[in-house]
Amino acid sequence: MGRAELGQLIDREELDASDGARGRLAIAVPGAWARDRADIEITVPARVTCARCDGGGCDSCARSGAHRAPAEAAARTLRLRLPPDLTAGATLRLVRPFGEHAPLDQLLVELREGSASPGVHRVGPPPQDALARAAAPGGGGLRALGAQIGTPAVLAALAAIAAVVGLLLGR
Ligand SMILES: [Zn+2]
Repeated sequence: MGRAELGQLIDREELDASDGARGRLAIAVPGAWARDRADIEITVPARVTCARCDGGGCDSCARSGAHRAPAEAAARTLRLRLPPDLTAGATLRLVRPFGEHAPLDQLLVELREGSASPGVHRVGPPPQDALARAAAPGGGGLRALGAQIGTPAVLAALAAIAAVVGLLLGR
């Protein structure tokens, strides 16, 4: 489940040893978003499952099985960059996802391929398909231009331009 990525930025053992409140959130995102290395925005639910007991209730969550995220949706909306391949799933560990003063110490975001979960939105970059279409608009543009260049009026205009350029160079 992509655990290899977890320790890249921060000392993983330290994170594992941390006894702060730890939540987990499982979401699905389309595989194409991941292949585009898109950023996503997640509006985290106001309550997230406790990652230590998986909702069963433990000391860390005061037997509730969950941890509270900030009440305001804007304060629990996170932005993150997707890993490039979600075919086997991936887990991102976010440290202090809601800031230093929020009670949640870590949030494990478990990603898998699928239709985007509620509260999950793509925020960029634009899809590769769309970029390709923009760069080559149907191929019709070049053919149309070629047809116009063949007309006498256009050839005359080009000749006039060439003459002007020649004059400038000759001074
Ligand atoms: Zn718990």
